[in-house]
Amino acid sequence: MMHVYPPDGATFLSPHFRRREFICPCCGLLDLDATLLCGLELLRVLIGSPINASSGYRCEKHNLRVGGYVRSRHLAGQAVDAIIVGVPRIRVVEAAESIYYFSHGGIGVYPDSPHVHLDVRGQRARWGYLDGNTITYDEAMQMLRDEAA
Ligand SMILES: [Zn+2]
Repeated sequence: MMHVYPPDGATFLSPHFRRREFICPCCGLLDLDATLLCGLELLRVLIGSPINASSGYRCEKHNLRVGGYVRSRHLAGQAVDAIIVGVPRIRVVEAAESIYYFSHGGIGVYPDSPHVHLDVRGQRARWGYLDGNTITYDEAMQMLRDEAA
């Protein structure tokens, strides 16, 4: 785990990602698992498009406020909600599946939301979520395929 200081949002943490993309929006703190950055850099190369890390680290207070899961990987600095403009999400998820850190981590697909959840928890987890309800990963992936067709 990296405890990332100084608190300058413009600081680069890796070639394409700055500190401000991962900080907790309520307090500005940041803990970050460095393998998440490795995975995101690989993903960026594979899809050839910028990745907006819309939600990275969350402190416990902020996680509660946004209704996050009590054991959310965001609390451990191991998760990001990635938004990639101009690339169909099915391609993003397929690329993530080919990257070790994510294939052995968590991928959450939310067909009615612009982001894809990616985490580096160290074991495989897959899920879908639609209209406030859990759906299977296969159902969610099929929706992304339909959307891209
Ligand atoms: Zn906070």
